[in-house]
Amino acid sequence: MQNSNTNDGASDDDAAPFWQRKSLDEMTHREWEQLCDGCGRCCMLKLEDEDTDVVYLTRLSCKLLDIGKCSCTDYAKRHEKVPDCLSLTPKMVRELEWLPDTCAYRLIDEGQDLAWWHPLVSGDPGTVHEAGISVRDWAMPETAARAEELHKYLVIDD
Ligand code: SF4
Ligand code: SF4
Repeated sequence: MQNSNTNDGASDDDAAPFWQRKSLDEMTHREWEQLCDGCGRCCMLKLEDEDTDVVYLTRLSCKLLDIGKCSCTDYAKRHEKVPDCLSLTPKMVRELEWLPDTCAYRLIDEGQDLAWWHPLVSGDPGTVHEAGISVRDWAMPETAARAEELHKYLVIDD
């Protein structure tokens, strides 16, 4: 779910930027891809509590995530290399409770605006890191943990 962003949201000259005037369902594929803030949070491994079905994020990142850039190193072939990588849809945005509160798709679907640090707003892909939203400063590669120790890497998101 990682992609690069450019600040051309207001491409229709006298209209509000697309994320302020379109629902998730109305966005073009390009707009949809641009909407991702590049935080990398959805690329963290998750653990599900079998008793409650609650899904918890870990600080362990997918093997394809470049932690420094918070971007996928093989976005085009990600589903071949990581079969459980999700291609987010509007329906999934409404159903996935573990999607972070800061996720741009969640915000737009809930009728909120993007924050100052979103690259579409700031025009700078670095602001998602500077604002402490991305996983850059706390993620660890999944290869750093043994399978039986994943519970030690749980993250309680706010
Ligand atoms: S959590 Fe949302 S905004 Fe962040 S990388 Fe994933 S899809 Fe993009
Ligand atoms: S393959 Fe991994 S790093 Fe790439 S988008 Fe999917 S979860 Fe993120």
